[in-house]
Amino acid sequence: MWPGAPVSAGVVITTGFRRAALAATLPVLALAGALAPLPPLAVEQWFSTAAYPALQHVITPLSNSLPIAIFDILCVAATMVVVVVLVRGVRRARRDRSVRPIARALGVLLIGVAGAYIWFLLFWGLNYRRVPMTERLRMDGAGPAPAAVLQLGRDAAGQLNALHDEAHAIGWHEQPIDDGMLRRGFEEIQRALSDAPPAVPGRLKPTILGPYFRWTSVDGMVNPFGLEVLANPDLLPFERPFVAAHEWAHLAGYADESEASFVGFLSCLRGGPAARYSAWLLMYWQVMAELTQEERATVAATLAPGPRADLEAIVARLRRGEWPLLRNAGWQVYDQYLKANRVEEGVRSYGLVVTLLLRARFDPRWMPVRRDP
Ligand SMILES: [Zn+2]
Repeated sequence: MWPGAPVSAGVVITTGFRRAALAATLPVLALAGALAPLPPLAVEQWFSTAAYPALQHVITPLSNSLPIAIFDILCVAATMVVVVVLVRGVRRARRDRSVRPIARALGVLLIGVAGAYIWFLLFWGLNYRRVPMTERLRMDGAGPAPAAVLQLGRDAAGQLNALHDEAHAIGWHEQPIDDGMLRRGFEEIQRALSDAPPAVPGRLKPTILGPYFRWTSVDGMVNPFGLEVLANPDLLPFERPFVAAHEWAHLAGYADESEASFVGFLSCLRGGPAARYSAWLLMYWQVMAELTQEERATVAATLAPGPRADLEAIVARLRRGEWPLLRNAGWQVYDQYLKANRVEEGVRSYGLVVTLLLRARFDPRWMPVRRDP
């Protein structure tokens, strides 16, 4: 009798096929997630203003309650898994004198990467595909007139001059989350922008990425796997409110950089003099980048010594820490990341906050006006 042979071969083939199919599931799902053309309106309705806020309301408070960043725990765990899988693969390859264990180890890592990408999309990344702010708000004109940009630069300098002494006298919270006015401002702006429940703000958390932030001149980032704010350890006190509000806007699902700066800026403007000063420092910076050299000189000439010293302190902080080669490489990687997430402008999208601010229509309380549904 030979019943054993065909049956067991059949079982082996079926199990092998099942295993291969199971192993391919995550990479196939990840590929579909990357390439599938999702309608922005559906992402807006089902994810950005429904499923995502519900998730954020659980994860961010959890991270806020932990002394260390979830990102750091994940980084250490991921590094350990990669090392163990690779070392095991190499050891087995040596023992069996075959490259198959190494190929298998790489396959396992590929499944891990695919799983991480799906996690990224479902936790936060899909926000890149929501309806853009320019389509959800009432906008005037195609682009701001050069004169309007110059005027915004003058306004920024004027605001900095007017707010400097009071802001410095009041001082800045170590943690912007402890600034009640700023938190309320963030909530009000969110309510003006969408019907989604307002996001929970995050504490500025130290991270093992701190030195990398210093070398590459990154002020902060949102951990898309743990919905928390990671901050550069060298931020100056007057930089913190705006950096926090910008990252909170990311936590609120505004993935685009210009949209996050727009939300962060307007949130700070509803805060006290110290938060407003922080926001105008950023806006001054952004507008100057959009002006001609001549215009820049005119605006800079109107700046009082106080704000000038603060801006110089920021430049000195960046220069002290930066590692130009790594900084350029880091920003190039981020540019590619943004483009891969369908932000066609890449890192240039930061400067678009000036356009957004000058084109958006505001009501008398300086609230952006939504388009009719
Ligand atoms: Zn950002």
